[in-house]
Amino acid sequence: MSSSSFQPPQRVLMGPGPSDVHPRVLAALAKPTIGHLDPAFVGLMDEIKAELQYAFQTANEMTMPVSAPGSAGMETCFANLVEPGDEVVVCVNGVFGTRMKENVIRCGGTPVIVEGEWGRAVDPDQVRDALKAHPDAKIVAFVHAETSTGARSDAAAIAAIAREHDCLSIVDTVTSLGGIELKVDDWGLDAVYSGTQKCLSAPPGLSPVTFSARALEKLKARATPVQSWFLDLSLVMGYWGEGQQRSYHHTAPVNALYGLHEALVMLHEEGLENAIARHRRHHEALKAGLEAMGLSYVVPQDERLPQLNAVWIPDGVDDASVRRRLLEDYGLEIGAGLGDFAGKVWRIGLMGASCTKRHVLLCLSALETVLAEAQAPIERGAAVEAAAAAYAA
Ligand SMILES: *Cc1c(COP(=O)(O)O)cnc(C)c1O
Repeated sequence: MSSSSFQPPQRVLMGPGPSDVHPRVLAALAKPTIGHLDPAFVGLMDEIKAELQYAFQTANEMTMPVSAPGSAGMETCFANLVEPGDEVVVCVNGVFGTRMKENVIRCGGTPVIVEGEWGRAVDPDQVRDALKAHPDAKIVAFVHAETSTGARSDAAAIAAIAREHDCLSIVDTVTSLGGIELKVDDWGLDAVYSGTQKCLSAPPGLSPVTFSARALEKLKARATPVQSWFLDLSLVMGYWGEGQQRSYHHTAPVNALYGLHEALVMLHEEGLENAIARHRRHHEALKAGLEAMGLSYVVPQDERLPQLNAVWIPDGVDDASVRRRLLEDYGLEIGAGLGDFAGKVWRIGLMGASCTKRHVLLCLSALETVLAEAQAPIERGAAVEAAAAAYAA
């Protein structure tokens, strides 16, 4: 056994997350650890809550980061809101919708599946039909930005349908927060979870969540306690709640929260609208380059996520060896296909600090070189020029 410090290689992260972490955020992580009940830390917690309210565009009191990755934010929503016997409409158009279904079952609920095509947005009419067929349903759950396919669903429309039928909405915004428009209050979303390592560009390991007053009412009215002690929000709020008096629930990941705070400050400095416009601008340039090369998108234009570009792998090209070359020769990570799309699709992320002109141009030139070496049927020499033209437009 060699006992020495770990030196991570230099990478450029353009997959489905984590994205590149800004040096300011890395520096924040390295600041001295203080106690999780230190008055200075309580002040930081309040700032994080306020910054998250801005990022989510919500006035929800119950807004805070769960001390675990996005999947724990997902479990927080389901564990607190789904009671044994509850019917829950779950929209499944990719990997993360499938996980929502699994959560409903494990909470003792009965999932009603709205089956969608992979690579397409959830169809709001199908949601309406499911609610008509299941008038006792209590919750509608869906993924706003399906990272496994690159499809964006109309969260405002689906949440409105849920409300018409007196249902709460549980919404996965892990990849949407900070990358595309997301208006929790205006759209009437009830229980919303996200992640730190996608468009916020903080390290993985925390999951911002926000709960509406309606969602908290359902939590308060539960007949049985939340099965998970750790994720039970009525207990977590003793620590993350109002005022100076905070009681110990678990030891917060102090330094990870320094990092999240810095990432949120950077989002605020840039401005949410500007961050969203930036994701769109670089997506347009990347798209122009990829299409000039002859690659085609999985998702139809008006249902696409700018921050997650899923393209079909050209015929006869070996998925793994291309990604290995990109990593070895350029330090560039792009995402493989997940689930049904494994081996068929590449997922190129433009998230947070990984959404810059430098990233777009590196990705296009590296991918073109590697594909040309692999004798792939692509158009050579066109991609970077097409991207430059898109920037100039
Ligand atoms: C990444 C992701 C998750 C899971 O987040 P982890 O931090 O990996 O647990 C959930 N939903 C979506 C849409 C994601 O992209």
